[in-house]
Amino acid sequence: MTDHLMATYNRLPVSFERGEGAWLWSSDGKRYLDALAGIAVCGLGHAHPRVRDALCEQAARLVHVSNLYRIPAQSALGDRLCTAAGMDRVFFANSGAEANEAAIKLARLYASRRGVQRPEILVMENSFHGRTLATLTATGSRKAQAGFEPLVSGFVRVPYDDLAAVETAAANRANIVAVLVESIQGEGGIVVPEEGYLAALRRLCDRHGWLLMLDEVQSGMGRTGKLFAHQHEGIQPDVMTLAKGLGNGVPIGACLARGEAAEVLGPGSHGSTFGGNPLACRAAMAVLDTLEQDDLPTRAAGLGERIRDGLRERLAAVPGVADIRGRGLMVGVELDRPCAELVAAALAEGLLINVTAQRVVRLLPPLIIDAEQAQQIIDTVARVVLAFLHETGGGTAG
Ligand SMILES: *Cc1c(COP(=O)(O)O)cnc(C)c1O
Repeated sequence: MTDHLMATYNRLPVSFERGEGAWLWSSDGKRYLDALAGIAVCGLGHAHPRVRDALCEQAARLVHVSNLYRIPAQSALGDRLCTAAGMDRVFFANSGAEANEAAIKLARLYASRRGVQRPEILVMENSFHGRTLATLTATGSRKAQAGFEPLVSGFVRVPYDDLAAVETAAANRANIVAVLVESIQGEGGIVVPEEGYLAALRRLCDRHGWLLMLDEVQSGMGRTGKLFAHQHEGIQPDVMTLAKGLGNGVPIGACLARGEAAEVLGPGSHGSTFGGNPLACRAAMAVLDTLEQDDLPTRAAGLGERIRDGLRERLAAVPGVADIRGRGLMVGVELDRPCAELVAAALAEGLLINVTAQRVVRLLPPLIIDAEQAQQIIDTVARVVLAFLHETGGGTAG
């Protein structure tokens, strides 16, 4: 099918017209179990009553007025988010890239206030921070950057989960002002750093006067078993970015900051026409209310363990399966070979999954799935992985 859309996506030959909870129905009436949630966006599943009611009610009253005026729903959401995250202030944007763009600009202004002339931000290999020029530069993928040069200057890259590399950078570069890092790498293949990594980064940042800026766009909003993934390590970042799960599908991003960092962006220094409009803020408030009242982070922790245990039981000993890992409902199954075909294979079996970093099956189901749906995810993923390894050689059909 040809249409007038720019060819930025390789789309699967299916479209959906209705969703409920973790189920989606395609235009031809087939039912699918959604183990991707619009890439970690619809954490409460589709058509959640609380989000639906908040949206309908707000849409009937007021959608947008601009940030030229006070927006009570934005202030209320800001209070709620900052309290939950232990942060002081928040800037609302419309996406993960924009939230990170705000963090990068904040770090630049912070440096400029301190008289650092050519500030550098430390970023990681294998990272993903978005597709705008600055966030693309921060992203650790040559493939994503290719052809878009000249990129933005002022970034220094080290391997992820490698503290010695950070120490070396600290010793060799005087102008580093901030570290921008994912608490768990998502697009990079569900890479969970060693326990203590983020806490050690926190100490390094304190020692050198750097801002610790955590990208929780994918790992945030309850998915890993805590509201924010860094809370597993009991640390506090200076800056944190959110998006994906924040609005359950309504575009909203947030850049939160604490202490000195919270006071950097003043009138005229940054902005967004749409950012934090009443509709998006009401949706995000409904998400936070529901995560808390239904204790969904705890649920995500248990379900994630269950899915990893089930997959390990079926796949851990299978040649061709390199690793089964994750935290809460961020689950990765790494194979020893590229496996993009698995997406279509699972789709044919009525399951939506994703493959990232070429060899990693990525599961990001809604936090509201039940035990039966978790079992269906385990069964279908195990079946398509075993069949794929059998067909491509080197595996066993179990
Ligand atoms: C998806 C993602 C982004 C980019 O978010 P967009 O809303 O697509 O701009 C940034 N950082 C991380 C960790 C992400 O997973």
